Amino acid sequence: MRRLRNVKIVATLGPASNDYETIRALHEAGADVFRLNMSHGDHSEIRERHRIIRQVEKDLDSPIAILADLQGPKLRVGVFANGEEELVEGGFFRLDLDTAEGDINRVNLPHPEIFQVLQVGSNLLVNDGKIRLTVVECGKDFANCRVVFGGTISNRKGVNVPDVVLPLAALSEKDLEDLEFVCQLGVDWLALSFVQRAQDVEEARNLADGRAAILSKIEKPSAVISFDEILAASDGIMVARGDLGVELPPQNVPPIQKRLIRKCREAAKPVIVATQMLESMIDSPMPTRAEVSDVATAIYEGADAIMLSAESAAGDYPIEAVTTMSNVAVEVESDPTYTELLESSRKARRTTVADGIVAAAREIAETTHIKVICCYTQSGTTALLTARERPRVPIIAMTSQRGTARRLALSWGTNCVMTGELERFKMAVINAARAARSHGFAEEEDMIVVIAGVPFGVPGSTNILRVAPCAEHLIYPADLA
Ligand code: PGA
Ligand code: MN
Repeated sequence: MRRLRNVKIVATLGPASNDYETIRALHEAGADVFRLNMSHGDHSEIRERHRIIRQVEKDLDSPIAILADLQGPKLRVGVFANGEEELVEGGFFRLDLDTAEGDINRVNLPHPEIFQVLQVGSNLLVNDGKIRLTVVECGKDFANCRVVFGGTISNRKGVNVPDVVLPLAALSEKDLEDLEFVCQLGVDWLALSFVQRAQDVEEARNLADGRAAILSKIEKPSAVISFDEILAASDGIMVARGDLGVELPPQNVPPIQKRLIRKCREAAKPVIVATQMLESMIDSPMPTRAEVSDVATAIYEGADAIMLSAESAAGDYPIEAVTTMSNVAVEVESDPTYTELLESSRKARRTTVADGIVAAAREIAETTHIKVICCYTQSGTTALLTARERPRVPIIAMTSQRGTARRLALSWGTNCVMTGELERFKMAVINAARAARSHGFAEEEDMIVVIAGVPFGVPGSTNILRVAPCAEHLIYPADLA
Protein backbone atom coordinates (compact mmCIF):
# COMPACT_ATOMS: atom_id res chain seq x y z
CA MET A 1 0.00 0.00 0.00
CA ARG A 2 1.62 3.24 -1.13
CA ARG A 3 1.79 5.84 1.62
CA LEU A 4 2.20 9.57 1.17
CA ARG A 5 4.43 9.80 4.24
CA ASN A 6 7.64 8.28 5.54
CA VAL A 7 6.91 7.78 9.23
CA LYS A 8 5.18 4.47 9.95
CA ILE A 9 2.12 3.85 12.11
CA VAL A 10 1.83 0.99 14.62
CA ALA A 11 -1.71 0.12 15.74
CA THR A 12 -2.31 -2.12 18.73
CA LEU A 13 -5.15 -4.59 18.22
CA GLY A 14 -7.70 -5.42 20.91
CA PRO A 15 -11.44 -5.78 21.50
CA ALA A 16 -12.15 -2.64 19.40
CA SER A 17 -10.23 -4.01 16.42
CA ASN A 18 -10.74 -7.74 16.27
CA ASP A 19 -12.50 -8.40 13.01
CA TYR A 20 -11.44 -8.53 9.38
CA GLU A 21 -13.28 -5.35 8.34
CA THR A 22 -11.72 -3.22 11.08
CA ILE A 23 -8.19 -4.57 10.64
CA ARG A 24 -8.39 -4.06 6.91
CA ALA A 25 -9.78 -0.56 7.36
CA LEU A 26 -6.97 0.23 9.82
CA HIS A 27 -4.37 -0.85 7.28
CA GLU A 28 -6.06 1.10 4.51
CA ALA A 29 -6.25 4.18 6.76
CA GLY A 30 -2.51 3.93 7.43
CA ALA A 31 -1.50 1.25 9.96
CA ASP A 32 1.72 -0.34 8.68
CA VAL A 33 2.39 -2.52 11.71
CA PHE A 34 -0.04 -4.35 13.99
CA ARG A 35 0.89 -4.90 17.61
CA LEU A 36 -0.38 -7.95 19.45
CA ASN A 37 -0.21 -7.16 23.15
CA MET A 38 0.49 -10.41 25.01
CA SER A 39 -0.59 -8.79 28.29
CA HIS A 40 -4.19 -9.03 27.08
CA GLY A 41 -6.02 -11.69 25.13
CA ASP A 42 -5.51 -15.43 25.27
CA HIS A 43 -3.68 -17.51 22.69
CA SER A 44 -6.79 -18.32 20.67
CA GLU A 45 -7.61 -14.59 20.30
CA ILE A 46 -4.02 -13.81 19.35
CA ARG A 47 -4.04 -16.63 16.79
CA GLU A 48 -7.24 -15.28 15.25
CA ARG A 49 -5.91 -11.69 15.00
CA HIS A 50 -2.73 -13.03 13.44
CA ARG A 51 -4.74 -15.00 10.88
CA ILE A 52 -6.80 -11.95 9.94
CA ILE A 53 -3.72 -9.72 9.51
CA ARG A 54 -2.14 -12.24 7.16
CA GLN A 55 -5.41 -12.46 5.23
CA VAL A 56 -5.53 -8.66 4.82
CA GLU A 57 -1.89 -8.69 3.74
CA LYS A 58 -2.70 -11.26 1.10
CA ASP A 59 -5.91 -9.59 -0.09
CA LEU A 60 -4.24 -6.19 -0.47
CA ASP A 61 -0.87 -7.56 -1.57
CA SER A 62 0.86 -5.27 0.89
CA PRO A 63 3.51 -6.47 3.37
CA ILE A 64 2.44 -5.91 6.99
CA ALA A 65 4.63 -6.28 10.08
CA ILE A 66 3.28 -8.06 13.13
CA LEU A 67 4.84 -7.05 16.43
CA ALA A 68 4.19 -9.32 19.41
CA ASP A 69 4.71 -7.44 22.66
CA LEU A 70 5.68 -9.69 25.57
CA GLN A 71 4.41 -8.60 28.97
CA GLY A 72 7.81 -8.96 30.66
CA PRO A 73 8.34 -8.91 34.40
CA LYS A 74 5.46 -6.55 35.09
CA LEU A 75 4.50 -6.46 38.76
CA ARG A 76 0.84 -6.58 39.67
CA VAL A 77 -1.11 -6.64 42.93
CA GLY A 78 -3.56 -9.50 43.60
CA VAL A 79 -7.34 -9.17 43.87
CA PHE A 80 -9.64 -7.44 46.33
CA ALA A 81 -12.70 -8.89 48.04
CA ASN A 82 -14.62 -5.81 46.85
CA GLY A 83 -12.83 -5.56 43.51
CA GLU A 84 -11.37 -2.18 44.50
CA GLU A 85 -10.56 0.08 47.45
CA GLU A 86 -9.96 3.78 47.93
CA LEU A 87 -6.58 4.57 49.50
CA VAL A 88 -6.47 7.86 51.37
CA GLU A 89 -3.44 10.12 51.52
CA GLY A 90 -1.63 9.91 54.87
CA GLY A 91 -3.06 6.44 55.63
CA PHE A 92 -1.22 3.13 55.69
CA PHE A 93 -1.39 0.14 53.35
CA ARG A 94 0.33 -3.23 53.48
CA LEU A 95 1.61 -5.35 50.59
CA ASP A 96 2.39 -8.99 51.41
CA LEU A 97 2.72 -12.54 50.12
CA ASP A 98 -0.59 -13.67 51.65
CA THR A 99 -2.78 -14.79 48.75
CA ALA A 100 -6.03 -13.99 50.59
CA GLU A 101 -8.22 -11.34 48.91
CA GLY A 102 -7.30 -7.77 49.74
CA ASP A 103 -9.19 -5.09 51.69
CA ILE A 104 -8.72 -1.45 52.72
CA ASN A 105 -5.66 -2.38 54.82
CA ARG A 106 -3.69 -4.77 52.62
CA VAL A 107 -3.35 -6.70 49.38
CA ASN A 108 -1.24 -9.50 47.96
CA LEU A 109 1.87 -8.61 45.92
CA PRO A 110 2.78 -12.05 44.54
CA HIS A 111 6.48 -11.34 43.83
CA PRO A 112 8.73 -12.66 46.65
CA GLU A 113 11.86 -11.23 44.92
CA ILE A 114 10.58 -7.68 45.43
CA PHE A 115 10.43 -7.97 49.20
CA GLN A 116 14.11 -8.97 49.17
CA VAL A 117 15.16 -5.62 47.70
CA LEU A 118 12.66 -3.17 49.22
CA GLN A 119 14.04 -0.85 51.87
CA VAL A 120 12.55 1.72 54.18
CA GLY A 121 12.04 4.76 51.94
CA SER A 122 11.57 2.78 48.68
CA ASN A 123 8.68 4.03 46.55
CA LEU A 124 6.00 1.86 45.00
CA LEU A 125 3.83 3.36 42.29
CA VAL A 126 0.46 1.77 41.58
CA ASN A 127 -1.97 2.22 38.71
CA ASP A 128 0.15 4.23 36.29
CA GLY A 129 1.77 6.15 39.11
CA LYS A 130 -1.52 7.60 40.34
CA ILE A 131 -0.98 6.05 43.78
CA ARG A 132 2.37 6.49 45.53
CA LEU A 133 3.33 4.36 48.53
CA THR A 134 6.52 4.77 50.56
CA VAL A 135 7.82 1.82 52.56
CA VAL A 136 8.03 2.52 56.32
CA GLU A 137 8.72 -1.02 57.51
CA CYS A 138 9.49 -4.21 55.61
CA GLY A 139 10.43 -7.85 55.96
CA LYS A 140 10.93 -10.84 53.69
CA ASP A 141 7.20 -11.25 53.05
CA PHE A 142 5.64 -7.84 53.64
CA ALA A 143 6.03 -4.09 53.29
CA ASN A 144 4.07 -1.58 55.35
CA CYS A 145 3.68 1.62 53.42
CA ARG A 146 2.50 5.17 53.94
CA VAL A 147 0.08 6.43 51.31
CA VAL A 148 1.74 9.53 49.82
CA PHE A 149 -0.81 10.00 46.99
CA GLY A 150 -4.15 8.24 47.41
CA GLY A 151 -6.54 6.90 44.79
CA THR A 152 -8.47 3.86 43.67
CA ILE A 153 -6.62 0.56 43.72
CA SER A 154 -8.31 -2.35 42.01
CA ASN A 155 -7.69 -5.95 40.98
CA ARG A 156 -4.31 -6.71 39.36
CA LYS A 157 -3.23 -3.10 38.99
CA GLY A 158 0.40 -2.68 37.89
CA VAL A 159 3.12 -1.71 40.35
CA ASN A 160 6.35 0.12 39.45
CA VAL A 161 9.39 0.16 41.72
CA PRO A 162 11.67 2.74 40.12
CA ASP A 163 14.34 3.07 42.81
CA VAL A 164 15.74 -0.45 42.66
CA VAL A 165 17.19 -2.75 40.01
CA LEU A 166 14.84 -5.70 40.29
CA PRO A 167 16.37 -9.14 40.67
CA LEU A 168 13.92 -10.46 38.12
CA ALA A 169 14.47 -12.67 35.10
CA ALA A 170 13.91 -10.74 31.87
CA LEU A 171 11.34 -13.28 30.76
CA SER A 172 8.71 -14.70 33.09
CA GLU A 173 7.19 -18.19 32.73
CA LYS A 174 4.34 -16.57 30.82
CA ASP A 175 6.78 -14.73 28.52
CA LEU A 176 8.61 -17.96 27.70
CA GLU A 177 5.34 -19.63 26.72
CA ASP A 178 4.15 -16.59 24.77
CA LEU A 179 7.49 -16.24 22.99
CA GLU A 180 7.39 -19.80 21.73
CA PHE A 181 3.73 -19.47 20.80
CA VAL A 182 4.17 -16.31 18.70
CA CYS A 183 7.40 -17.52 17.10
CA GLN A 184 5.61 -20.64 15.94
CA LEU A 185 2.72 -18.55 14.72
CA GLY A 186 5.19 -16.38 12.78
CA VAL A 187 5.69 -12.78 13.86
CA ASP A 188 8.18 -10.26 12.49
CA TRP A 189 9.06 -8.37 15.65
CA LEU A 190 9.21 -9.44 19.26
CA ALA A 191 9.02 -6.56 21.75
CA LEU A 192 10.56 -7.07 25.18
CA SER A 193 9.06 -5.16 28.11
CA PHE A 194 11.02 -3.81 31.08
CA VAL A 195 14.41 -4.60 29.59
CA GLN A 196 17.03 -3.70 32.21
CA ARG A 197 20.30 -4.76 30.54
CA ALA A 198 21.71 -5.98 27.20
CA GLN A 199 21.86 -9.51 28.56
CA ASP A 200 18.02 -9.54 28.73
CA VAL A 201 17.95 -8.92 24.98
CA GLU A 202 20.49 -11.63 24.24
CA GLU A 203 18.45 -14.12 26.23
CA ALA A 204 15.35 -13.43 24.12
CA ARG A 205 17.37 -13.47 20.91
CA ASN A 206 18.66 -16.95 21.69
CA LEU A 207 15.14 -18.19 22.29
CA ALA A 208 13.72 -16.53 19.18
CA ASP A 209 16.58 -18.10 17.24
CA GLY A 210 16.20 -15.98 14.11
CA ARG A 211 12.42 -16.38 13.93
CA ALA A 212 11.74 -12.70 14.81
CA ALA A 213 13.66 -9.45 15.09
CA ILE A 214 14.08 -8.16 18.64
CA LEU A 215 12.79 -4.78 19.78
CA SER A 216 13.64 -3.48 23.26
CA LYS A 217 11.15 -1.34 25.11
CA ILE A 218 12.91 1.38 27.09
CA GLU A 219 10.74 1.87 30.15
CA LYS A 220 13.13 1.47 33.12
CA PRO A 221 15.70 4.00 34.36
CA SER A 222 18.27 1.19 34.20
CA ALA A 223 17.55 0.73 30.48
CA VAL A 224 18.18 4.42 29.87
CA ILE A 225 21.52 4.12 31.68
CA SER A 226 22.55 1.01 29.68
CA PHE A 227 20.97 2.23 26.45
CA ASP A 228 24.05 2.00 24.22
CA GLU A 229 24.60 -1.67 25.04
CA ILE A 230 20.88 -2.42 24.74
CA LEU A 231 20.73 -0.72 21.34
CA ALA A 232 23.75 -2.68 20.14
CA ALA A 233 22.06 -5.93 21.18
CA SER A 234 18.65 -5.05 19.64
CA ASP A 235 17.19 -4.73 16.14
CA GLY A 236 14.85 -1.92 17.15
CA ILE A 237 13.74 0.23 20.08
CA MET A 238 10.50 1.50 21.58
CA VAL A 239 10.43 4.65 23.67
CA ALA A 240 7.77 3.22 26.01
CA ARG A 241 6.70 6.49 27.55
CA GLY A 242 3.90 4.97 29.65
CA ASP A 243 6.03 3.12 32.14
CA LEU A 244 9.06 5.32 31.57
CA GLY A 245 7.01 8.34 32.69
CA VAL A 246 5.99 6.51 35.85
CA GLU A 247 9.45 5.25 36.72
CA LEU A 248 11.02 8.65 36.05
CA PRO A 249 9.58 12.14 36.53
CA PRO A 250 7.52 12.78 33.36
CA GLN A 251 9.58 15.84 32.45
CA ASN A 252 12.59 13.56 31.99
CA VAL A 253 10.86 11.70 29.14
CA PRO A 254 11.02 14.28 26.29
CA PRO A 255 14.82 14.73 26.41
CA ILE A 256 15.26 10.95 26.60
CA GLN A 257 12.93 10.54 23.62
CA LYS A 258 15.01 12.97 21.56
CA ARG A 259 18.31 11.37 22.51
CA LEU A 260 17.13 7.81 21.86
CA ILE A 261 15.68 8.69 18.46
CA ARG A 262 19.02 10.21 17.37
CA LYS A 263 21.02 7.23 18.57
CA CYS A 264 18.71 4.79 16.80
CA ARG A 265 19.00 6.68 13.55
CA GLU A 266 22.77 6.69 13.86
CA ALA A 267 22.67 2.93 14.36
CA ALA A 268 20.20 2.51 11.44
CA LYS A 269 17.73 0.70 13.69
CA PRO A 270 14.02 1.58 13.80
CA VAL A 271 12.59 3.42 16.80
CA ILE A 272 8.93 3.66 17.84
CA VAL A 273 7.54 6.47 19.98
CA ALA A 274 4.71 5.00 22.03
CA THR A 275 1.93 5.71 24.47
CA GLN A 276 -0.73 8.38 24.96
CA MET A 277 -0.05 9.94 21.57
CA LEU A 278 -3.78 10.42 20.97
CA GLU A 279 -5.08 9.32 24.36
CA SER A 280 -8.21 11.50 24.26
CA MET A 281 -9.30 9.75 21.05
CA ILE A 282 -10.13 6.66 23.12
CA ASP A 283 -13.52 8.30 23.57
CA SER A 284 -13.48 11.33 21.31
CA PRO A 285 -13.36 11.58 17.52
CA MET A 286 -11.14 14.66 17.84
CA PRO A 287 -7.62 14.82 19.29
CA THR A 288 -6.47 17.62 21.57
CA ARG A 289 -4.11 20.24 20.15
CA ALA A 290 -1.43 19.03 22.54
CA GLU A 291 -1.72 15.47 21.23
CA VAL A 292 -1.43 16.61 17.62
CA SER A 293 1.64 18.54 18.64
CA ASP A 294 3.12 15.49 20.38
CA VAL A 295 2.63 13.33 17.27
CA ALA A 296 4.17 16.08 15.14
CA THR A 297 7.15 16.40 17.47
CA ALA A 298 8.01 12.70 17.21
CA ILE A 299 7.89 13.01 13.42
CA TYR A 300 10.05 16.17 13.37
CA GLU A 301 12.53 14.31 15.56
CA GLY A 302 12.84 11.66 12.85
CA ALA A 303 11.21 8.70 14.62
CA ASP A 304 10.63 5.68 12.40
CA ALA A 305 7.20 4.95 13.79
CA ILE A 306 4.48 6.34 16.04
CA MET A 307 2.18 4.06 17.97
CA LEU A 308 -1.42 3.76 19.09
CA SER A 309 -2.23 1.65 22.16
CA ALA A 310 -5.70 1.80 23.70
CA GLU A 311 -6.75 4.28 21.00
CA SER A 312 -6.87 1.47 18.44
CA ALA A 313 -7.20 -1.54 20.79
CA ALA A 314 -10.04 -0.51 23.02
CA GLY A 315 -11.22 2.96 21.98
CA ASP A 316 -14.35 4.10 20.17
CA TYR A 317 -12.45 5.64 17.23
CA PRO A 318 -9.63 3.34 16.09
CA ILE A 319 -9.83 4.29 12.40
CA GLU A 320 -10.07 8.01 13.15
CA ALA A 321 -6.98 7.74 15.37
CA VAL A 322 -4.93 6.19 12.54
CA THR A 323 -6.26 8.78 10.09
CA THR A 324 -5.31 11.58 12.48
CA MET A 325 -1.74 10.29 12.74
CA SER A 326 -1.52 9.94 9.00
CA ASN A 327 -2.84 13.47 8.38
CA VAL A 328 -0.38 14.96 10.87
CA ALA A 329 2.46 13.03 9.21
CA VAL A 330 1.62 14.26 5.71
CA GLU A 331 1.49 17.84 6.93
CA VAL A 332 4.72 17.70 8.94
CA GLU A 333 6.65 15.95 6.20
CA SER A 334 5.73 18.60 3.66
CA ASP A 335 7.07 21.34 5.94
CA PRO A 336 10.52 22.59 4.84
CA THR A 337 11.49 22.78 8.51
CA TYR A 338 11.11 19.01 8.72
CA THR A 339 13.63 18.52 5.93
CA GLU A 340 15.99 21.01 7.55
CA LEU A 341 15.79 19.28 10.90
CA LEU A 342 16.48 15.85 9.40
CA GLU A 343 19.40 17.21 7.41
CA SER A 344 20.99 19.03 10.29
CA SER A 345 20.80 15.90 12.45
CA ARG A 346 22.30 13.58 9.84
CA LYS A 347 25.42 11.96 11.25
CA ALA A 348 28.04 10.81 8.79
CA ARG A 349 29.05 7.25 9.42
CA ARG A 350 31.16 6.33 6.46
CA THR A 351 33.00 3.14 7.16
CA THR A 352 31.72 0.72 4.52
CA VAL A 353 31.12 0.75 0.77
CA ALA A 354 27.40 0.44 1.50
CA ASP A 355 27.47 3.64 3.61
CA GLY A 356 29.09 5.45 0.69
CA ILE A 357 26.65 4.09 -1.85
CA VAL A 358 23.52 5.03 0.07
CA ALA A 359 24.90 8.51 0.73
CA ALA A 360 25.70 8.89 -2.96
CA ALA A 361 22.22 7.66 -3.92
CA ARG A 362 20.64 10.33 -1.76
CA GLU A 363 23.00 13.01 -3.01
CA ILE A 364 22.33 12.21 -6.67
CA ALA A 365 18.59 11.86 -6.18
CA GLU A 366 18.37 15.22 -4.44
CA THR A 367 20.68 16.99 -6.87
CA THR A 368 18.77 16.04 -9.99
CA HIS A 369 15.18 15.22 -10.77
CA ILE A 370 15.19 11.63 -9.65
CA LYS A 371 11.82 10.35 -8.48
CA VAL A 372 12.74 7.37 -6.30
CA ILE A 373 15.66 5.38 -4.87
CA CYS A 374 15.18 1.66 -5.45
CA CYS A 375 17.40 -0.49 -3.27
CA TYR A 376 17.81 -4.22 -3.51
CA THR A 377 18.01 -5.73 -0.09
CA GLN A 378 17.98 -9.29 1.18
CA SER A 379 18.59 -8.97 4.90
CA GLY A 380 17.14 -5.43 4.93
CA THR A 381 20.43 -3.76 5.81
CA THR A 382 20.80 -1.74 2.60
CA ALA A 383 17.23 -0.46 3.02
CA LEU A 384 17.94 0.51 6.64
CA LEU A 385 21.10 2.36 5.60
CA THR A 386 19.19 4.16 2.84
CA ALA A 387 16.46 5.10 5.32
CA ARG A 388 19.07 6.42 7.75
CA GLU A 389 19.99 9.02 5.12
CA ARG A 390 16.37 10.28 5.37
CA PRO A 391 16.39 11.20 1.66
CA ARG A 392 13.85 13.67 0.26
CA VAL A 393 12.77 11.20 -2.42
CA PRO A 394 10.86 7.98 -1.63
CA ILE A 395 12.64 4.66 -1.14
CA ILE A 396 11.49 1.40 -2.67
CA ALA A 397 13.02 -1.62 -0.97
CA MET A 398 13.09 -4.46 -3.48
CA THR A 399 13.43 -7.86 -1.86
CA SER A 400 12.78 -11.51 -2.55
CA GLN A 401 12.46 -12.17 1.20
CA ARG A 402 8.93 -11.84 2.56
CA GLY A 403 10.26 -11.66 6.12
CA THR A 404 12.49 -8.72 5.19
CA ALA A 405 9.61 -6.85 3.51
CA ARG A 406 7.45 -7.35 6.59
CA ARG A 407 10.13 -6.32 9.08
CA LEU A 408 10.89 -3.17 7.08
CA ALA A 409 7.26 -2.09 7.39
CA LEU A 410 8.38 -0.59 10.73
CA SER A 411 11.22 1.47 9.25
CA TRP A 412 11.06 5.07 8.10
CA GLY A 413 10.31 5.57 4.43
CA THR A 414 10.71 2.03 3.16
CA ASN A 415 8.09 0.99 0.62
CA CYS A 416 8.59 -2.73 0.08
CA VAL A 417 8.07 -4.52 -3.19
CA MET A 418 8.56 -8.27 -3.57
CA THR A 419 10.76 -9.46 -6.42
CA GLY A 420 11.77 -12.89 -7.64
CA GLU A 421 15.32 -14.15 -7.24
CA LEU A 422 17.58 -12.25 -9.62
CA GLU A 423 20.61 -13.38 -11.51
CA ARG A 424 21.54 -10.36 -13.58
CA PHE A 425 21.76 -6.68 -12.69
CA LYS A 426 20.00 -5.80 -15.93
CA MET A 427 16.84 -7.46 -14.63
CA ALA A 428 17.23 -5.61 -11.35
CA VAL A 429 17.08 -2.26 -13.12
CA ILE A 430 14.14 -3.30 -15.29
CA ASN A 431 12.23 -4.65 -12.30
CA ALA A 432 12.93 -1.53 -10.28
CA ALA A 433 11.67 0.71 -13.08
CA ARG A 434 8.53 -1.42 -13.37
CA ALA A 435 7.94 -1.30 -9.61
CA ALA A 436 8.45 2.47 -9.55
CA ARG A 437 5.88 2.92 -12.31
CA SER A 438 3.31 0.39 -11.19
CA HIS A 439 3.30 1.66 -7.61
CA GLY A 440 2.90 5.23 -8.73
CA PHE A 441 6.33 6.54 -7.73
CA ALA A 442 7.48 7.46 -11.23
CA GLU A 443 6.27 7.89 -14.80
CA GLU A 444 7.65 6.65 -18.08
CA GLU A 445 9.75 9.83 -18.61
CA ASP A 446 11.26 9.89 -15.09
CA MET A 447 14.63 8.76 -13.84
CA ILE A 448 15.36 6.50 -10.87
CA VAL A 449 18.42 5.48 -8.86
CA VAL A 450 18.98 1.76 -8.37
CA ILE A 451 21.41 0.38 -5.80
CA ALA A 452 22.26 -3.25 -5.33
CA GLY A 453 24.95 -5.71 -4.41
CA VAL A 454 26.32 -8.10 -6.97
CA PRO A 455 26.53 -11.05 -6.72
CA PHE A 456 22.91 -11.07 -5.56
CA GLY A 457 22.04 -12.73 -2.29
CA VAL A 458 25.37 -12.05 -0.59
CA PRO A 459 24.62 -9.83 2.44
CA GLY A 460 26.70 -6.67 2.80
CA SER A 461 27.79 -6.65 -0.83
CA THR A 462 26.15 -3.34 -1.85
CA ASN A 463 28.45 -2.17 -4.64
CA ILE A 464 26.44 -0.83 -7.60
CA LEU A 465 24.65 2.44 -8.20
CA ARG A 466 22.88 3.08 -11.50
CA VAL A 467 20.91 6.10 -12.59
CA ALA A 468 18.35 4.75 -15.03
CA PRO A 469 15.40 5.95 -17.06
CA CYS A 470 12.01 4.49 -16.27
CA ALA A 471 11.15 3.83 -19.89
CA GLU A 472 12.08 0.23 -20.48
CA HIS A 473 13.40 0.61 -24.04
CA LEU A 474 15.89 3.23 -22.78
CA ILE A 475 17.21 1.30 -19.79
CA TYR A 476 19.83 -0.69 -21.61
CA PRO A 477 21.08 0.98 -24.74
CA ALA A 478 23.27 -1.30 -26.79
CA ASP A 479 26.59 -0.03 -25.47
CA LEU A 480 25.62 -0.89 -21.85
CA ALA A 481 24.00 -4.25 -22.40
P1 PGA B 1 2.85 -1.09 27.49
O1 PGA B 1 4.20 -0.48 27.00
O2 PGA B 1 1.75 -0.44 26.75
O3 PGA B 1 2.99 -2.53 27.23
O4 PGA B 1 2.88 -0.79 28.97
C1 PGA B 1 4.30 0.82 26.49
C2 PGA B 1 4.64 1.84 27.54
O5 PGA B 1 4.89 1.50 28.71
O6 PGA B 1 4.68 3.01 27.16
MN1 MN C 1 5.01 -0.47 29.42
